[in-house]
Amino acid sequence: MGNSVKKDLETVAPFEEAIEEIKQAGGAESGRFCYQCGKCDVYCPWNRVRDFSIRKVIRQAAFGLTEIEGEDIWRCTTCGSCPSVCPRGVGQIEFGVSLRRVATDYGIFPDSVRGVRAARGSLTSDGNPLSENRESRADWAKGLSLKPYAEGMDFLFFVGCYYSYDPRMKKVAVATANILDKAGVEFGILGTQESCCGESIRKTGGEEVFKTLAKENIKTFIDHGVKKILVSSPHCYHTFKNEYPEFMVNFEVVHITELLAELIRDKRLELKGDYGKRVTYHDPCYLGRHNGVYEAPRQVLDTVPGLERVEMVDSRESSLCCGGGGGRVWMDTPKGERFADLRLDQAQDVGAEVLATSCPYCITNFEESRLSLAEDDVLEIRDITEIINEMI
Ligand code: SF4
Ligand code: SF4
Repeated sequence: MGNSVKKDLETVAPFEEAIEEIKQAGGAESGRFCYQCGKCDVYCPWNRVRDFSIRKVIRQAAFGLTEIEGEDIWRCTTCGSCPSVCPRGVGQIEFGVSLRRVATDYGIFPDSVRGVRAARGSLTSDGNPLSENRESRADWAKGLSLKPYAEGMDFLFFVGCYYSYDPRMKKVAVATANILDKAGVEFGILGTQESCCGESIRKTGGEEVFKTLAKENIKTFIDHGVKKILVSSPHCYHTFKNEYPEFMVNFEVVHITELLAELIRDKRLELKGDYGKRVTYHDPCYLGRHNGVYEAPRQVLDTVPGLERVEMVDSRESSLCCGGGGGRVWMDTPKGERFADLRLDQAQDVGAEVLATSCPYCITNFEESRLSLAEDDVLEIRDITEIINEMI
């Protein structure tokens, strides 16, 4: 027996039961489709910052040799790059999530993943991953005279956790409410009755927490007669549109950039002044690659007077992930391994003064990189709604 195989077997010995579950979870079965071509690793953003092989993770799982206590099963940001190029349709994201589900069931988390435990606890007790009180979920809207959602309104504005609680993202929620008000959109919010959409905890293997959150939200939507849901987060967008139908419900889901494009086209929003800046747009993975929304955000930016839009080297289908999906936003990523740092470099390479996007995780990661790279005086990070709010 070779040394590395021997080591692998010794490593997994305490987790034999878990490994058996990995095989039963179907991981090993879909792994058998893989013929180890390695295309996934070529497209994976991790390989721009460190060695990581999803191909190897799949190979090991197929033989029951997964290092379930290691960090590799937690790396995938579910960015969607590799599934789009896999010639065998292995479904790397679902595969990886099934491994995390087993690790979660057995409570096996490496140190860098501890934040997921905290997020899970807070989601269970207060419906948000940020260790905040449910009672203060609508505090961002104090003084704005927003209405609670009532049947017959144009939209339920589902605010989302980061926009409700995070000091940076609250500004985006306020900008959004202001724009909707100016455009005469009739909308309401659920306030303390809104719970996290559950998208990201599901990708960390927290299937039961996801199901509980989804059922709570669905019940609230149905009780309030909700038909159309407006969201700011691509993660809420994705799960409402593609995952909640697993519960036999279908709501019409609209991302804020899609609505903004429509409001501007219909002349319900008039943009004034001269923005006077060079802007590049970052496609969030869950808006672009996962849901094909590439045009609406660009159309909105192109209507802003005096805004010069430039494209970064990795854009649209090949957008570079910010590093926050798949629950990575709650995990520790050492400096030198942050995709967001690379993205800021790409924005600067095209001479952008503003890096615009439309996702709470992207903005959180970009803001962090901006501060740690001391680029705060040369590059602004903006949500598209903030730019529009400045111009109405
Ligand atoms: S691209 Fe697909 S078939 Fe090729 S190594 Fe990756 S998972 Fe296997
Ligand atoms: S989905 Fe993205 S981060 Fe995950 S393994 Fe594939 S390319 Fe890498």
